[in-house]
Amino acid sequence: MYPGREEVGQRSETVRRANLSAIVRELHLRGPLSRSELVARTGLTRSAIRALVGELVAGELVAEEAAVRLGTPGRPSPLVRLVPDGAVVLALEIAIDSLAVAVVGAGGVVHELERVDRPRGHLSLDEVVADLVELAALARSRRPAGEMPIRVAVAVAAIVSRADGLVRFAPNLGWVDVPLGARLAEALALPVPVEVDNESDLGALAEFRRGAARGADDVLYVHGEVGVGGGIIVDGRPLDGIGGYGGEIGHMPVNPDGRSCRCGSTGCWETEVGEGALLTRAGYALDGGREAIDQVLADAAAGRPAALAALDSVGRWLGIGLAGLVNILNPRRVVLGGLFSRIHPFVVDRMDLTLDHYALAAPRRLVSVVPSTLGVDAPLLGAAEMAFEPLLDDPAAWLGPRGALVQLESA
Ligand SMILES: [Zn+2]
Repeated sequence: MYPGREEVGQRSETVRRANLSAIVRELHLRGPLSRSELVARTGLTRSAIRALVGELVAGELVAEEAAVRLGTPGRPSPLVRLVPDGAVVLALEIAIDSLAVAVVGAGGVVHELERVDRPRGHLSLDEVVADLVELAALARSRRPAGEMPIRVAVAVAAIVSRADGLVRFAPNLGWVDVPLGARLAEALALPVPVEVDNESDLGALAEFRRGAARGADDVLYVHGEVGVGGGIIVDGRPLDGIGGYGGEIGHMPVNPDGRSCRCGSTGCWETEVGEGALLTRAGYALDGGREAIDQVLADAAAGRPAALAALDSVGRWLGIGLAGLVNILNPRRVVLGGLFSRIHPFVVDRMDLTLDHYALAAPRRLVSVVPSTLGVDAPLLGAAEMAFEPLLDDPAAWLGPRGALVQLESA
């Protein structure tokens, strides 16, 4: 049987959309590229690239700049880049000590970023949503009137059900089964979907695409604060588990004789390496927060034994936990974020020695353990990356018939 004409038409439409996606994704992840580089990276022909880029230019998603000489013979190739205002997303974050919002443009250009301190402790959903809506309005007020984000995404330190934006468990906020996504969508009143995900998963995505794990396809991101979270990327894809709850490495049991954990278990990794463990070992109150951590680091820099011993212990337990994870995952890069990037200089030697001791030699040789380069903003920027995914997957859905950037299909 030969395919009918209609079937061939559908197939070529599918191919066209996939090719537009390949081009937009390359430009988003790598920045401006010449047409020749796009040919090389996508495997498409020169004429196909010309036609598809033309479509994206008409849709004002992409612009072409004057030709650049690349030192190769032949005609110079025009430089193709995403228009940073062509599509924007709104990213939000509920962190342990702060709330944040960013307006991010195509290609990862951060147009606006606001972060405000928030008191630690339990907060109602209403309070958090009201504060986030106010922050979002502030950031958007500095943008061109009428600009509409194509998506909204929220990073939160919690176990999250991504499918419905339900926060299953956020011990720091005191939330159990809280409908964060739905309430935020209602309060923001924007005609676009609102997605919610765990801050460590999003931190991993941001470091993988734009930070310390660029160029590595197998990545473990370890985010430390009061709790310890993890984001795992295997062969370029997030490892979520069947419910999306995977990567909770902070609750990996490491010490059955240890302290009780906020999750109800005993001796979880975070009870040995989290903020509480560092502060109590250094002789500070458990709930001292950021200022107390600053004090521990100042004490360590001044050579005070209690602070040095506390950091040494955290470094050792970091190495022990990482050894197990390196043996299991065989990652190319481990990125230490949050608290762990701040204390990195004080723990790196002990952590490396312990890792050498407990990890298998073969995977140990292949991995580098590095501090985050995006710092505190990694989860927020990861939320922006998640919000861009639908556009990267199918830019044609956003290309209107007259070149206007409109979403044709509701998602
Ligand atoms: Zn636990």
